[in-house]
Amino acid sequence: MKRKINLQLVAIAILAVMATAIGITIVYYGLFQRQIRQDLMINAKMLRDTQYFSSTDIDVDSVDLSAENSELRVTWIDGDGTVLYDNDVDAAKLENHMDRPEIREAFETGEGDAVRKSDTLNEDTYYYAILLTNSTVLRIAANAQSLLAVFLSVMPVILLIIVLIITVCVILSFTMAQQILAPIEAMADHLENADYDAPYKELEPLARKLKSQHADVLAAAKARQDFTANVSHELKTPLTAISGYADLLQAGMVEEKQKDHLYGEITKNANRLLSLINDIIRLSEFDRAGRELTFEQIDLYGIAVECMDNLKVNAKQREISLTLEGNPCYINANPHMMRELIENLVQNAIRYSNAGGRVRVIVDERGGKVTLAVKDNGIGIPAAEQERIFERFYRVDKSRSKATGGTGLGLAIVKHIVELHDAKISVDSSPGVGTTMTVIF
Ligand code: ADP
Repeated sequence: MKRKINLQLVAIAILAVMATAIGITIVYYGLFQRQIRQDLMINAKMLRDTQYFSSTDIDVDSVDLSAENSELRVTWIDGDGTVLYDNDVDAAKLENHMDRPEIREAFETGEGDAVRKSDTLNEDTYYYAILLTNSTVLRIAANAQSLLAVFLSVMPVILLIIVLIITVCVILSFTMAQQILAPIEAMADHLENADYDAPYKELEPLARKLKSQHADVLAAAKARQDFTANVSHELKTPLTAISGYADLLQAGMVEEKQKDHLYGEITKNANRLLSLINDIIRLSEFDRAGRELTFEQIDLYGIAVECMDNLKVNAKQREISLTLEGNPCYINANPHMMRELIENLVQNAIRYSNAGGRVRVIVDERGGKVTLAVKDNGIGIPAAEQERIFERFYRVDKSRSKATGGTGLGLAIVKHIVELHDAKISVDSSPGVGTTMTVIF
């Protein structure tokens, strides 16, 4: 983190320094060029006004400018391009200068200028030529650094600034990272404290998320603990009964006519154990992460028809009429789970209805959504308990549930299946009137 902040800061700073240096060099160089041109022009006009070069038949050898104007090169050219005088090189050795652009321009328009690469590396030569009244041309030249040379000459200063900036960035990134990270570390230490506020505004969403996740983790841990305790308790009751009856039988303490009753109790409790374990296994399958679920296009009404056979026997035993209404409705679902869902809901409707009651299963489409409704006119659920019946092992009337083979896990399984299918389940119930469970897909 610190390293990243550091690198980014340094990169931005170096870029800024380089861009500024290049920009300033270009602007400065433009001004510098203008200044040179202006100096050359002033010098040329001054030399013209000295009248040194007013006549072509003056003794050129008596003119010596080399000492005074060592920086400047002065060249005097006759009307045909012949060099009459040069303060740097022997004029006789110089070739005709008519082809130089600044000289041709001066003959044509009165003055001319040009810039050419100098023989010396990284230098340019600036020329200014002016036409004299005697039809000769006086040219002044000076060498100056090229753009690259000017830039290279400021390089040491730029490098020094970059070194300074890197030092400042290292210090800055360290303190900045410290300022950002220290409150986060402090916050991590206070996660379990619900009143602890985020140290700064930008951290509020993170703090909120962490707090809720922390609370979820704690709640999940508590739910697991409760579940384990409940499971042990639920398993212990039938097992205690089985072992107690078996002990009695083994000790020969049971009268012959009572034996059948005890065998029946043992079978009932063993079955209860089996259904409990089946439901627990089902629930743990839902909890297991990475479970592979296969969804397919199925007819929910068709599945309900298949479920009816088993459930009808059950309903008949309890003298309850069971009917299925509706029409074929297709949804994307796991067929095995849909069977489980329907069976659990219908079994509850039968279990919590009185003899002579009526259970209706309706599969149809309402408002474009496939809906499964299981209606009974049984004992109903008090409003205060309707929220809790989906909790594991939560029962409104514990003895009725147990007496009818309930495990207290049926609706917990239903809730899981509903969630896995992105569906919604709602309860509409009033005590003594009946219950309707509606699942909307
Ligand atoms: P159980 O195995 O005890 O039926 P469930 O999880 O299926 O457990 O249901 C939880 C509780 O919800 C039941 O014990 C019962 O009190 C109540 N309940 C469920 N369905 C109905 C219903 N159709 N009518 C009345 N009470 C119901």
